[in-house]
Amino acid sequence: MRTATMRAARNAGAARAMGARSFSVGANTPLQVLTDEEQMFKETVARFSQEMILPKVKEMDESMTMDKDMIQAMFDNGLMGVEIPAKYGGSEASFLSAILVIEELAKVDPAVSVCCDVQNTLVNNLFSIYGNEDVKERYLPRLAGECLGSFGLSEAGSGSDAFALATRAEQKDNGDYVINGSKMWITNAGEAEIFLVQANLDPSKGYKGITCFIMERGMEGFEVGKKENKLGIRASSTCPLTFTDVVVPKENVLGEIGKGYKYAIEILNEGRIGIAAQCLGMAQGAFDATLPYLHERKQFGSFIGDFQAMQHQVAQCAVEIEAARLLTYNAARKKMNGENFTKEAAMAKYYASGVAERTASKCIEFMGGLGFTKDMPQEKFWRDSKIGAIYEGTSNIQLQTIAKLVQSEYKN
Ligand SMILES: Cc1cc2nc3c(=O)[nH]c(=O)nc-3n(C[C@H](O)[C@H](O)[C@H](O)COP(=O)(O)OP(=O)(O)OC[C@H]3O[C@@H](n4cnc5c(N)ncnc54)[C@H](O)[C@@H]3O)c2cc1C
Repeated sequence: MRTATMRAARNAGAARAMGARSFSVGANTPLQVLTDEEQMFKETVARFSQEMILPKVKEMDESMTMDKDMIQAMFDNGLMGVEIPAKYGGSEASFLSAILVIEELAKVDPAVSVCCDVQNTLVNNLFSIYGNEDVKERYLPRLAGECLGSFGLSEAGSGSDAFALATRAEQKDNGDYVINGSKMWITNAGEAEIFLVQANLDPSKGYKGITCFIMERGMEGFEVGKKENKLGIRASSTCPLTFTDVVVPKENVLGEIGKGYKYAIEILNEGRIGIAAQCLGMAQGAFDATLPYLHERKQFGSFIGDFQAMQHQVAQCAVEIEAARLLTYNAARKKMNGENFTKEAAMAKYYASGVAERTASKCIEFMGGLGFTKDMPQEKFWRDSKIGAIYEGTSNIQLQTIAKLVQSEYKN
């Protein structure tokens, strides 16, 4: 069954043979911006999410755990190595395919979506783009098939100012490295086996001393701390890491010495499109879960969806979701075309994160008192939506990037 979902997506006939009902991917999904193949793929992932993830969402949120069988099913269906080349066991699909996976998973569970997002857009792509052949052969098959990965940049003292990091690396006489320091807020760290860790090898060079090291769970002196007890995306583990004289073999430097900051900047641009897709997915998921109710609930003798005040708010949400989708897909297509996409990625993340929050909040209101209870999915979407404006660069940082790039277009 390996990469079954991805194969099915490439073959509409095969997906039909699997008994694909026409799964709702949001009644307002603009089919014209996706090819038939991309649309079929999206629907196949939607079906996977409904069948494999939806039944587990509430329990995972409450227990702050990621279901192991569900994660393995994601590996088995090729969703965790979307862009990894087939020769390393991946699905060898496009960046937009990864984005569609993240969007579809977020419609059902934004926590599962970010687990997949970090794996695909940050960890796998760092290995694929910057790893030498030895590194790719050692790590990509594991990442495509069985092991979660984490991306370790942030620290207690360096968040938005990420390259002020204090974790240090020193080279030993035999060429290996010794790492000391700590990381904070590391997604997937509760389950991950493979960690990409940024440490400074030569602080005298400032951020140009930062180098990316490959670390593994179980290395002596490497500890994964307690999971953060978070407002939202609770099933997704977020943990601190500490390194006490951890010896990392010289073969475990990813790419070139002193290029870690450059790799992080470049990969976070891609990652931001992933977070935009996660936010888009959660907005659509909240909307899809709510709209039918407007034609079930009557007040003053009419369906609440027939009141103009409600209709205007529905329209506003629909417009915003559509705009977020177009910004997100546009940024992904620009990246795939080899164009500069920094501004578009920042715009997509900034806008989609706001849309997720506004839509989820509105959806609670549309449901009245019911929406305020844990029996309904809206409250979880709302809690989950808050993270979009924080990780992979806060909204302020996105605005800073957008303003800088827009203003530069008007300078001589
Ligand atoms: C659930 C979760 C998962 C995460 N996963 C990862 C991960 O996998 N890997 C990883 O490396 N990191 C991860 N992070 C860290 C995340 O990227 C940082 O939290 C984020 O970059 C913000 O940093 P900070 O929390 O230190 O906030 P700060 O940087 O201290 O920001 C606090 C406030 O100050 C504002 N601010 C800061 N600088 C400026 C400025 N120059 N101009 C205007 N306003 C400014 C910010 O916008 C924000 O409102 C995660 C965080 C969370 C909460």
